[in-house]
Amino acid sequence: MAARTDIFDLARLALTPGEGRRIDSLTVIIDPFGFGGQEYVEADREVPIILDVSRMTGGGYSLRLRFDAEINGPCMRCLQDAAPTFGVDSREINAHGGGEEMTSPYVQGDDLNLHDWARDALALALPSQILCSTDCAGLCPQCGKDLNVEPHEHEKGPDPRWSALRDLVVEPENN
Ligand SMILES: [Zn+2]
Ligand SMILES: [Zn+2]
Repeated sequence: MAARTDIFDLARLALTPGEGRRIDSLTVIIDPFGFGGQEYVEADREVPIILDVSRMTGGGYSLRLRFDAEINGPCMRCLQDAAPTFGVDSREINAHGGGEEMTSPYVQGDDLNLHDWARDALALALPSQILCSTDCAGLCPQCGKDLNVEPHEHEKGPDPRWSALRDLVVEPENN
């Protein structure tokens, strides 16, 4: 049974320097989030994760977090429901006495903030647009219909909004 975990206590693994452990019995909550002006949720709100923890010989931890997230929300092209799945694979290092680049914002003492790490790693794994499918045709820029449902093209010609004006212009002058 997977245990929902927001903060994971690294000390409880009691790893000796150089030792590593894979933990695949945890789940983490993925909060709803805004992206490109739309609201998205993870389909199950809670995802099983694989966490690799290695205790480094110089002290500190090397960490890897992996999970798959199914994101539900509107397609950014056609506005229909989209449910793409993204794979997340993120690494962090937190070393004692290391410089700024060797400390992880998700590690405080022996506490690993899986909740924040999963959220940020997912944000980084997202593409620039969330789509129902990578070849979504989107909405017709002229009539607004869904081009996936009703593929069509409009005749190239004068904009009908100008026809009344054009008729005025071609009116013959009979003076
Ligand atoms: Zn779409
Ligand atoms: Zn159209």
